[in-house]
Amino acid sequence: MNTECPLCKNNEIDLLYTISSEKAARHFKNLTDIPTDKFKKIIENLWKSKASNINKCNKCNLVFSSPFVAGDNNFYSLFYDNFDNYPFWKWDFEETFDKLKKLNLKDNSQIRILEIGSGNGVFLNKLAKEVASNEQIFCTESSEYCIKELRRKGFNNVYTDLSKIMENSEGIKFDAIFMFQVLEHLDQLDYLLNQIIDCLSFCGDIFITVPNNYQRELYERMKIYEDIPPMHLSRWSLKSFQTLANNNNLNIIDYKIEPQKYFSKLFRLAFFLSKQCNNRFIYFKIKNKIFVKLIRTLYIVYKFIINIKTIFLLHRKIYGTSSLVHLRKLNE
Ligand SMILES: [Zn+2]
Repeated sequence: MNTECPLCKNNEIDLLYTISSEKAARHFKNLTDIPTDKFKKIIENLWKSKASNINKCNKCNLVFSSPFVAGDNNFYSLFYDNFDNYPFWKWDFEETFDKLKKLNLKDNSQIRILEIGSGNGVFLNKLAKEVASNEQIFCTESSEYCIKELRRKGFNNVYTDLSKIMENSEGIKFDAIFMFQVLEHLDQLDYLLNQIIDCLSFCGDIFITVPNNYQRELYERMKIYEDIPPMHLSRWSLKSFQTLANNNNLNIIDYKIEPQKYFSKLFRLAFFLSKQCNNRFIYFKIKNKIFVKLIRTLYIVYKFIINIKTIFLLHRKIYGTSSLVHLRKLNE
């Protein structure tokens, strides 16, 4: 079968690895405690197969799953019911907010702002306090729990997707659009990008954050796989964003990687290694908690020693957790 890059349509791609539905289901089971079989059934239904390939496009560097199919309501509802750690204020928000302040949108009653996938509204709350009124703020969110939270916080322009906003407010144009850790979850890229460009005003700004590709690649050298479909379908590098910009009449204003202390990067890596350890030793069913902790610590120390070069590399600035791209629509 001829696989095509969902971003640039090139078909010169490299297969990085294949992931089975069983392995993907186990990954999500560990996040939710919902039985592997339940996830496996939903995943195989989405994939129409028992495995998914993870490919890299030779032209735009996008890493993407094939089939390129996002998790549906059946899939995500398993998370919403069992997942209460929606994000607090973080680097993605702080960096975007700083950039937004420089755009000087405040006190302009004409501006419209949109966040796609706004979770429980941490970022929007700050905007409502310092940049725009609740009436000027629009958002999309599919989780029922989050929609209720957003309404409770006084946001009335809450929609389940962008097409509903466009249906309801014909011809609406946004001055700034935000997507924090959302793009990597979505399929139908062409449809989504067309909609976004359509409702973005001339010289309007888009802020997108995604997991940093360099850090993910480094993790994968240690067999830590966190971009698992159907949750994460794509991995974006600066080159992929350049392609997105060129194809959609956008300019890249800035691209930034989250600055992080070496210690926090090591701590994060240790956390993923402890998860890896749990997965590897799950079949032994050891009940003694102290013994489990001891095994886990030894495993992390062992992994740090055998991967000492990689551990050392982590101090480099390119290995932060998130990356942010600031795009602007060209005026023509
Ligand atoms: Zn491509």
